[in-house]
Amino acid sequence: MKILITGGAGFLGSHLGDAFLKRGDEIFVLDEAKDFKIRHNLGNPKFHYIRDSILNEEILDGLIFKSDLVYHMAAVVGVEHYVGDPYNVLNVNINGTQNVLKAAFKYNKKVVFASTSEVYGRNPNIPFSEDDDRVLGSTKIDRWCYSTSKATGEHFCFAYHKIGLPVVVVRYFNVYGPRLDKIDVGRIITIFMGQILRNEPLTVIGNGMQTRCFTYIDDAIKATVAAGLLKEAEGEIFNIGNNKETTIKELAEKMIEVSRVKNSIRHVTKEEVYGESYEDIQRRVPNTDRMKNILKVDADTSLEDGLRITIEWFKAIGNKY
Ligand code: UDP
Repeated sequence: MKILITGGAGFLGSHLGDAFLKRGDEIFVLDEAKDFKIRHNLGNPKFHYIRDSILNEEILDGLIFKSDLVYHMAAVVGVEHYVGDPYNVLNVNINGTQNVLKAAFKYNKKVVFASTSEVYGRNPNIPFSEDDDRVLGSTKIDRWCYSTSKATGEHFCFAYHKIGLPVVVVRYFNVYGPRLDKIDVGRIITIFMGQILRNEPLTVIGNGMQTRCFTYIDDAIKATVAAGLLKEAEGEIFNIGNNKETTIKELAEKMIEVSRVKNSIRHVTKEEVYGESYEDIQRRVPNTDRMKNILKVDADTSLEDGLRITIEWFKAIGNKY
């Protein structure tokens, strides 16, 4: 099969490309990002890297025309972007998604849309099932722009589905693993990783009792591949996540333990890290029944095992990334 992965040079997209290459498929990556995460595939004749934007409709049209399946993973992700450049988040995530869907509809190509557990916002009812409510804060709080942009993308997917386009929506829950982000930026694991490598205390926001379900990349990729290949997945939303809940304090302690370092924890305020435009989500846990029943995948890699591999990888790569 020929598979287009928008955002295929990113964390999830690069691992997804690896998985499809392993199956023998041909991959087209459309991504503005540099090639750090896909360098290992650049010499492969079945791997094509097109460095451009999903806002370039002409390029997108040509790539979708020649693909059998489209994974739309390109997006602006990361809390520092939600609070730092909300315009870019909204523009790329909403208008770019429209471009992908418009071209996919023109050529009738199935689209798997990478959404996020952020769409549930701060809904207090745990665990989140796919049809549960979205509970968000004020539009004055920039943090919610990402959730809103992805939920808008989902609405566009279902609007196109209604007129005949095969679509699948996958919502990721804090996926981590090698190639996650540069250390110090992006997500909590890379922020803690930078602090560990420099022997600094780990900055835990508040009392650290807020929770997340950390999902190892290989598990997330298995589910994502199944979402693209299975007919039964069409028209559905899937939570893609591990359902073991971990507090941020436990995560910090576990990362210190697995890294075999003597770092301490420093409690900080959310304003110190992200300024006024940030609001935290206290608990985030997926209901994973649908993923298990339809995609036949269980995201059960333990945090210890996943962290061991991830930390080894970051130690080896340092800040060269
Ligand atoms: N967090 C923290 N210290 C930091 C950065 C983040 O304790 O230096 C916390 C943050 O408050 C949140 C959790 O880590 O509760 C996960 O944050 P992340 O940025 O990975 O993304 P989120 O899951 O909120 O989308």
